[in-house]
Amino acid sequence: MKSLGLYRTDAIVIRSRKYSEADSLLTLLTEKKGKVQAIAKGVRKTNSRLRGGVQVFTLNDMLLYQGRNLDTVTQSLCKEAFTPLHDDIKAVTAASYWCELLDKIIPSEERDATVFHLALAGLHVLSIETSELVIRALEIKLLTILGYKPYLEGCTSCGKEFQEKDIISFSTAQGGLLCLSCSTSEVKKYSYPFTLEAIAVWKQLLRMELHKVNRMKIKPACMSILGKALDEFIIMQLDYPLKSKAVLNTMLQM
Ligand SMILES: [Zn+2]
Repeated sequence: MKSLGLYRTDAIVIRSRKYSEADSLLTLLTEKKGKVQAIAKGVRKTNSRLRGGVQVFTLNDMLLYQGRNLDTVTQSLCKEAFTPLHDDIKAVTAASYWCELLDKIIPSEERDATVFHLALAGLHVLSIETSELVIRALEIKLLTILGYKPYLEGCTSCGKEFQEKDIISFSTAQGGLLCLSCSTSEVKKYSYPFTLEAIAVWKQLLRMELHKVNRMKIKPACMSILGKALDEFIIMQLDYPLKSKAVLNTMLQM
């Protein structure tokens, strides 16, 4: 049984939707309790005190009441609003995708400081620079922290290490790479072309600090191979594609 009562935490608002005429239902990523659902009462009224501390893409110092089903925001002070996001449609789309991914892939009420800090760092970096590389780096880092790490050291089926000119595929169903002889017709359905170069970029994006990612020079062909495999790998984990991803992919091509 859940313990009821007040708690104070840093919280990122990753989703907000109408709950009733005056109230909003928020999805928060909190430092103390992980992902929680909370009601913000009266915030849809223009004179609400809470209003400034419950907007999406903001970090807030929140006082919440833990209820049986939903928590309630009792106080909230905005510590950081990622304002540049709202001026640039590409940045807003990228931040919306990042928040939707966090919302859908993170399990509820599991405290994880690494996930919280990556979520925050993601909003920071996307408010400064929006590029496919940054998005890919965020996806790879998040997937790895959550334990969705594909096997990239060789063929996931026979263990063969890859050489130059080998035909490699990325199998989302197998959770890793396959060599040509293991890439049988039944596993081909969820396999996508991959290369040694894409493997190297994946590993580099995982290691690299976010603010340095944009300095990397990646060939467009490699970027699209990596991107296709990553998109499909994420869909495999979620069981469905995210709505905001299609919009973002279109926007990044412009
Ligand atoms: Zn093999």
